[in-house]
Parts: sequence; C-alpha cells; structure tokens
Amino acid sequence: MNRFHDDKAASAAMRRDKQPQPHTGDSYRAPLRVQSGTGCRECGAVYDNGRWLWCATTRRTGQLVCPACRRILEHAPAAELWLQGCDYLHAHREEVLALLHHQAQDEQERHALERLMQIDEQDGGLRVTTTGTHLLRRIGAALLRTHHGRFSIEYRDGDGLLRARWSHSNSDV
Ligand SMILES: [Zn+2]
Repeated sequence: MNRFHDDKAASAAMRRDKQPQPHTGDSYRAPLRVQSGTGCRECGAVYDNGRWLWCATTRRTGQLVCPACRRILEHAPAAELWLQGCDYLHAHREEVLALLHHQAQDEQERHALERLMQIDEQDGGLRVTTTGTHLLRRIGAALLRTHHGRFSIEYRDGDGLLRARWSHSNSDV
C-alpha cells in the first residue's frame, strides 16, 4: 500500500523513462500490497491472493491499476513477437490475424494479465506485442501447429522484454 497509492499512472510512465534499469520489467510482476477483492479501475480485474482474476461482480475501486493495464497505459509490453514478412504470410495474412486474435481472446479469459496489446504492420511483416509472456509462447505454439515455419525465442537482458520471431521459410531442412 505504501508503494502504489492513488492515481500515479502518469508519474509511473515518467519514472520508467528516467530509470531504464534491468528490473523495469520486474516491477510489473512484483506483488502489489493490496487487499484481496480490490478491482482495477481500468479493466475491472480483481486482485485475489496474489492473482488477478476476472469477476462478474467487480467493484472498481478507482484506486488501483492492474499490471496489464499499466503496461498498456505506459506502452511497455512484456513480450514482442515479430512475424517475418514472406510470400506465405502475405497469402495467409487473414488466417494468421484470426489466429492471433483467437489465441489472445482465449488466453485473456483464462489469465487476466495476459493480453494482446498491438498488432502493427512493419516491413511487410507483423509486430505483435503482449502484456504477458505466456500469451506470446501460446501464439508461437499455435502458429507452429497451424502454419508451421520456425518459432524462436530470445530473451534480452536490459530491457526486460521477451522477444520472439516466427518465420515461414521453405529453405530450411
Ligand atoms: Zn486492469
């Protein structure tokens, strides 16, 4: 309760710029000292014994922002997936986009903090950002299952961001 009080979203964003430290990413995961039953004022997810859950009878307290909403507000994704542009991706673009949205929706319903942030077109490919690493891994598995290709994960120290890449190439054995 002493670390986060009231409406500090703006100052939190500034703090992130001023302190680009390795532990920036962890700050979103750190357990907040809040009472169970407290709801996020942005999305209505409810904090319950260390977890954030969706609850049909949410009461938004107006005091707290959950880690996922903080990432969205501060444009600080937990994970980034780069879908490399290629003929296959161009030909199956709509199917791939549908897969991304379907996986994200299903994951979000199960885990309140795992959300799709953005899908941006970039250099003929797609850049996907999420609020949680679980969703990114799930999307990677679904891409492999449905569209094959290659999926690789690399974790970069320093920015606390999990980065992954998917490419569909026939040149690999
Ligand atoms: Zn929220």
